[in-house]
Amino acid sequence: GGKAPGKVSTRYDLEKETELRFEVEAGEAAEQLELELLTGMAEVFGSELNRNKKYTFGPGSKIAVFTWQGCSVNLYGKPEVAYVSKDTPMLLYLNTHAALEQMRKQAERDNERGPRVMVVGPTDVGKSTVCRLLLSYAVRVGRRPTLVELDVGQSGVSVPGTVSALCIERPADVEEGFSVQAPLVYHFGSTTPGTNIKLYNKLTSCLAEVFSQRCEVNRKASVGGCIINTCGWVKGSGYQALVHCASTFQVDVVLVLDHERLYNELKRDLPHFVRVVLLPKSGGVVERSKECRREARDEKIREYFYGFRGVTFYPFSFEVRFSDVRIYKIGAPSIPDSCLPLGMSQDDTQLKLVPVTPGRDLTYHVLSVSSAEDGEEGARKGIVESPVCGFIVVTYVDTQAQVMKVLSPAPRPLPRHTLLIMDIRFMDMK
Ligand code: ATP
Repeated sequence: GGKAPGKVSTRYDLEKETELRFEVEAGEAAEQLELELLTGMAEVFGSELNRNKKYTFGPGSKIAVFTWQGCSVNLYGKPEVAYVSKDTPMLLYLNTHAALEQMRKQAERDNERGPRVMVVGPTDVGKSTVCRLLLSYAVRVGRRPTLVELDVGQSGVSVPGTVSALCIERPADVEEGFSVQAPLVYHFGSTTPGTNIKLYNKLTSCLAEVFSQRCEVNRKASVGGCIINTCGWVKGSGYQALVHCASTFQVDVVLVLDHERLYNELKRDLPHFVRVVLLPKSGGVVERSKECRREARDEKIREYFYGFRGVTFYPFSFEVRFSDVRIYKIGAPSIPDSCLPLGMSQDDTQLKLVPVTPGRDLTYHVLSVSSAEDGEEGARKGIVESPVCGFIVVTYVDTQAQVMKVLSPAPRPLPRHTLLIMDIRFMDMK
């Protein structure tokens, strides 16, 4: 932050209920942009801006500055695009928040639980943004909602290839989003639910169970309810996964963004007491290319090891002996039903732990460190359902010496010795 000498500055005077949308150029060499609120009030995805403070946005950021009453702001630097739009669904989103808040009030009165909300829709409709908005509005009125992140491709909470839950205690930071402290994270292992839909559904159920348990002992969590962010895959098994999620979380409200068919299907297939609501997407949501998504995933892993903006982490690199760890992949390749041993179902193969023999092809793979207790036989039970306590990346494999070198956020030794391999790879270019 701070001064930005030499940067061009552009002033925007925004009328009430309009937003300034801007994009920062992508790429390493791109210039950051700074935003300052000069007069009036404004918010970025539900978080209020402080006046005369400069907010910095890095390469690739896509931001909307919305104002309810009108304001003026300055942008320092040259944006890729910047324009003011009068046409935003913010009022509808605010009304949605108001309706959820009504449900929380009623829950408080009747000693019931607060709303459990699932946000669905295809990719690039702004699901994550709507979740962030609703969560920030909820904490701003004193609630303690839970974010459930089921988007294994673009997780807002942990590294890709995971599902997670996070208690939200303060609004998202304008520049950095929600502060991620002590999330509950499960290993999925790939960036699309389709690679192992049984596992995906299983983990959704695990999260639902843990959340329900927490609600039983924590009244604020129960009243606050949850906002569930889902994947953009809304057909076939992807659709079934949404129905499963609605049922296992016992959701009360489903917000469908910009997809009428999905809205009709869910209305048809979910119990009648579930309120299914169709909401428009914001015209500001920018479509992201495959490449862009891949970069965002990479960046998320880099952040995990090296930190973000003001906070720099110094990861460790050390050798791990093959004999000291057990590496598994979850899910055996599926085989035709007719070939399955008697009494075994396809489910069993998708949730099966398959031991991985360490070899050179392990290089660059991300591994989850399972929190499951170490120990021979007993350990295998419950590994799938155990949260992870961290991640490492294999940077080098020496099959001769039977060791691998890993990048780790903490110094040796590893806290646990059961490792789960992801399809996802990370090449450390630092
Ligand atoms: P996916 O399912 O593909 O992960 P999504 O539906 O969750 O995507 P978001 O991540 O919420 O979509 O939004 C996509 C991008 O658009 C983000 O970079 C976000 O900052 C930006 N964005 C969202 N709303 C607006 C807006 N009103 N103006 C400008 N940019 C916006």
